[in-house]
Amino acid sequence: MPNYGIPPIALTVGSGCEVYDADGRQYLDLIAGIAVSSLGHGHPALVNAVVRQATTLAHTSNLFVHEREIQLAERLIGLLGGDAKVFFANSGTEANEAALKLVKRAASPGRHYFVAADKGFHGRSLGALALTGKDVIREPFGPYGMDVRFVPHGDLEALTEAVDEHCVAVFVEPTQGEAGVVPAPEGYLAGVRALCDRTGAAFVLDEIQSGIGRTGHWFAHQAEEVRPDVLTLAKGLGGGLPIGACVGFGRFADAFDKGDHGSTFGGNPVACAAALAVIDTIEDQDLLEHVRAMGGVLAEHLERIDHPLLAGQRGSGLWRALELTGPHAAHVQEQAAVRGFLVNAVAPDAVRIAPPLVITPEELAVFIEALPTILDAAEAAATKEPQP
Ligand SMILES: *Cc1c(COP(=O)(O)O)cnc(C)c1O
Repeated sequence: MPNYGIPPIALTVGSGCEVYDADGRQYLDLIAGIAVSSLGHGHPALVNAVVRQATTLAHTSNLFVHEREIQLAERLIGLLGGDAKVFFANSGTEANEAALKLVKRAASPGRHYFVAADKGFHGRSLGALALTGKDVIREPFGPYGMDVRFVPHGDLEALTEAVDEHCVAVFVEPTQGEAGVVPAPEGYLAGVRALCDRTGAAFVLDEIQSGIGRTGHWFAHQAEEVRPDVLTLAKGLGGGLPIGACVGFGRFADAFDKGDHGSTFGGNPVACAAALAVIDTIEDQDLLEHVRAMGGVLAEHLERIDHPLLAGQRGSGLWRALELTGPHAAHVQEQAAVRGFLVNAVAPDAVRIAPPLVITPEELAVFIEALPTILDAAEAAATKEPQP
């Protein structure tokens, strides 16, 4: 169907941080399938885990329990700390659908509305879409039968005004990925926590893009020492295998009754084995430290580039956006690809960089060195043919 337009490149093979297209051209992958391929491509730990699990037992459905999902739930709870339970889904949007049903189940009868952030992104299924603050993708598919109120991202005053004792839940991202890797101000999550404690609204934190090491912490909220009531995960968790997770803390751990929710494929053994391999590898290879170091190097070099197209950079860990001085992101993406680099024009004036967490200093250096030339070429292309 035409919903993705016509993707400009057909990828066929990947190895580490390199991928090849159908014509045999090589690219350095600096987007990792939208912050998903955390271990790069063909990582032996992930390949072995998947092959072993597919050979042993590939599927059980939720009629039966299996070892991998128990292990994965225990690993996640261990990393998060505290009193929590996990529901496994197959994607980000499904993790948020689970969160939505969970907070509805847990809410007292007088609570009837939700609060979410302008320009936020929570997924494309109807519940998650109702909470998504990007008007162009939400509006064509409403009405949703849900009272959702939007406030500016990171604005605690606006949020405080919007949330009272009739609010079911607040849905936020620590940094808005799809809006262009836009962080909330420091202290925002602590403010959301305090507000939710005061009003009794549930605090749902969407870490589908930020979680599992992307920011240099297991979870972005851990950098601020704040714990949400419900946490959703997906993207980087499976390292390329489809999996989502909805974690409930405290009373949200037990809010679902038997029969309240389910998924045939959710918690699939192969996807869980992949996620366990991702977590083990991040831990064994000290990748959180690596992500912080590589992110620091990237940020430092980006700050130093003096170019008329580049206004600055933002983000954390290996999750950054080049802030452009105008709507030139599509040109930058195109000129980067011509030179063998995959980046993402996430907004008209922002280019997202989210490489595999295993990217080496040498690989990063090659991109940093090429960037001024890419920007020059993008500038030339923009002058020749201004974008609408
Ligand atoms: C990608 C994303 C989603 C949706 O995940 P899908 O797997 O595409 O359904 C939800 N929330 C955030 C923050 C995301 O980045």
